[in-house]
Amino acid sequence: MQKASAPVVKDLVLIGGGHSHVSVLRRFGMRPVPGLRLTLVTRDVHTPYSGMLPGYIAGHYGYDDCHIDLGPLARFAGARLYHAAVEGLDLDERRVLIQGRPPVNFDLLSINTGSTPGMADVPGAREYALPVKPIDEFLVAWGVLRARILEQPGPFRLVVVGGGAGGVELALSTQYRLRQLLSERGDDPDRLHYSLLTEGPQILPTHNASVRARFERVLSERRMQMLTGHRVTEVTAEAVRVAGEAPVPADAVLWVTSASAPRWPAAAGLAVDSAGFIRVDEHLQSVSHPGIFAVGDVAAMVEPRPKSGVFAVRQGGVLAENLRRAATGAALTRYRPQRRFLGLISTGDRYAVASRGGWALEGAWLWRLKDWIDRRFMERYNTLPAMAAEEGPELATGIADGEALLELSTLAMRCGGCGAKVGSTVLDRVTQRLPVARRPDVLVGLDAPDDAAVLAVPPNRVLVQSVDYFRAFLDDAFTFGQIAANHALGDLFAMGAEPQSALAIATVPYGRERVVEEALYELVAGALKVLEPTGAVLAGGHSSEGAELAFGLTVNGLVEPDRIWRKGGLRPGDALVLTKPLGTGTLFAADMRRKAKGRWIDGAIASMLHSNQAAALCLRQHDASACTDVTGFGLLGHLVEMTRAAGLDARIELGAVPVLDGATETVAAGILSSLQPQNLRLRRAVRDPERTARSPRYPLLFDPQTAGGLLAGVPAERAAACVADLADLGYAAAAVIGQVEPRGDAEEPITVII
Ligand SMILES: Cc1cc2nc3c(=O)[nH]c(=O)nc-3n(C[C@H](O)[C@H](O)[C@H](O)COP(=O)(O)OP(=O)(O)OC[C@H]3O[C@@H](n4cnc5c(N)ncnc54)[C@H](O)[C@@H]3O)c2cc1C
Repeated sequence: MQKASAPVVKDLVLIGGGHSHVSVLRRFGMRPVPGLRLTLVTRDVHTPYSGMLPGYIAGHYGYDDCHIDLGPLARFAGARLYHAAVEGLDLDERRVLIQGRPPVNFDLLSINTGSTPGMADVPGAREYALPVKPIDEFLVAWGVLRARILEQPGPFRLVVVGGGAGGVELALSTQYRLRQLLSERGDDPDRLHYSLLTEGPQILPTHNASVRARFERVLSERRMQMLTGHRVTEVTAEAVRVAGEAPVPADAVLWVTSASAPRWPAAAGLAVDSAGFIRVDEHLQSVSHPGIFAVGDVAAMVEPRPKSGVFAVRQGGVLAENLRRAATGAALTRYRPQRRFLGLISTGDRYAVASRGGWALEGAWLWRLKDWIDRRFMERYNTLPAMAAEEGPELATGIADGEALLELSTLAMRCGGCGAKVGSTVLDRVTQRLPVARRPDVLVGLDAPDDAAVLAVPPNRVLVQSVDYFRAFLDDAFTFGQIAANHALGDLFAMGAEPQSALAIATVPYGRERVVEEALYELVAGALKVLEPTGAVLAGGHSSEGAELAFGLTVNGLVEPDRIWRKGGLRPGDALVLTKPLGTGTLFAADMRRKAKGRWIDGAIASMLHSNQAAALCLRQHDASACTDVTGFGLLGHLVEMTRAAGLDARIELGAVPVLDGATETVAAGILSSLQPQNLRLRRAVRDPERTARSPRYPLLFDPQTAGGLLAGVPAERAAACVADLADLGYAAAAVIGQVEPRGDAEEPITVII
């Protein structure tokens, strides 16, 4: 989370978690610029380190060995992390346009989104070839292809298109791995046939003759057909067609041709070279748009260099310095790309060839050297240093423009009470930007705002109300707005009600008007995204500025009186069905300590974003007797509320309780929510708590949930069908976790089977 004590004066947006931006994040984490807010927008939360990818494919590394986890890194840098793909820029308004979420404003922008192999102009390539980038997609597709190769008997012909270092490494590493897997299965590794095909007259065109000769030898030893001077004209399901040559038969084609640029930078109006890469000057700044920087493969440097991660890594330090300088109005420093660099190209079998200028060397020891260098690089991002004090020297010396300093001091002196309200012009602008929905039973709402909303309750219905409000546990206001709305609506679904309307209450951190407006807009836009499909309208709200982002909603629902679900409605013999996995409390506690993997947090967010509406309908169809939403008191707390109200006992199978990825690990590491101790008091409701507590999953029973699932009693004979229907509706983790029993003699109502 951004520190509340530093009001946002400028916004620096980083697009892409490439090799340079990881360095920028680390450096800003160690030395923040007060008032400069960082936002990282990235398609992948685990960003691959290119140097180790061939080793990963060959089976020498695990996923986490060669992927930088941007979750903890962004947290270390105090950066907001938006897991989404950028699709354009509005350079006049200085906004980044992002798939599926509101645009993000920037004062400074840096682009490090890499490249993809060019395949647009080759018919059939998109359909039949597997491009090596985006790498996450390649890795998934590679897993599928690998399984196909292992299962499909007889000869298998693989064609790798692209004779640069990437293509050569990919051919050798995939072959090594496949041969190994085939041998392990007692299959014949020689049924694999590889061809490496390249348009140029030779492979490895940017390396010296000695390196080329060594790889030609390796390819021949590994019985790979090398086809130079082969320009691909078409890819079909059976072959790669080549200009002036016979088609090359192929059962699968891997595509590693030279880099192509994304379209959106040019479409936005940034100056680009003839291939579409962003033209930057010697400061790594766009030649057409000051304040916008580009690095790595996506940038076209003044002195062109091969598209290689080596340059992106080296640019990181200069980029960080220049972003710092640009933010504080200081003169920029120059980036001088190295003329020669040491390339260590692996052969897939723990052996490498070194290439620098005109010389070459090879050996297993060079692979060990490469391994050592690469692991050391990764270590910088896996073991982050202790954070510096928040007040860096920049505030005193660096922020050269007096306006920024002035803004900081006036922002720090804000009133409380009504003076803390967000200004009316900001509010007006926000409401004008939001779509206003209407319902006939909302007589006065945001479409014609008044002092209060006026709601009608249709005949034969009653009004169900609930309120929730909490501090943000993630810096992404749009996502937080959605989660808060889901959390609040959970109470209505648990009562069997249909949402009708909501009132929002928001606190946004002090900042410039534009910053406050965006935060408020994102919160409410997030809430609307969730409310709208449920049929509920936003009828009003209240907003103020404060120390930290917080949001909540009063939600109103309607239900026929005889269809209200009460906690006490459970029946003996009912199966207990839980619709979502547990673990949000421990996972976000771990996230705050930078101990949660980005993909775990992604999974938790996806679960929290999943509405309970369809689950409630499904439970109703399966004749659920009682229902509650699992939130702050944890599963056990909410179950005890139900059994107490019903005067019954319950038995839980701990092994059947669905759990979010990573939650057992964070609990095992002793990382628990700050609410856990309060929830733990309810262990007195559990029979034989000492024995039960021996299970490593036990703490999860007390883990407080945000936007958790529904817990319901369902007739035992319908439970399996209910869970199957829930799975069809997307509640993949839904499960029967136990059953309701008649009240027994024991004082404690809950038995937990471990
Ligand atoms: C098989 C193979 C092996 C290689 N081996 C080496 C090697 O050993 N050494 C070497 O120096 N180079 C190697 N390369 C080249 C290297 O992969 C690239 O030069 C390098 O990855 C470029 O780094 P980058 O920082 O520009 O971008 P990348 O590392 O590609 O990072 C781009 C980032 O931007 C994100 N992104 C992309 N598009 C968007 C979007 N629209 N919105 C938001 N985020 C987005 C991605 O998720 C990713 O996080 C290899 C390439 C291949 C194919």
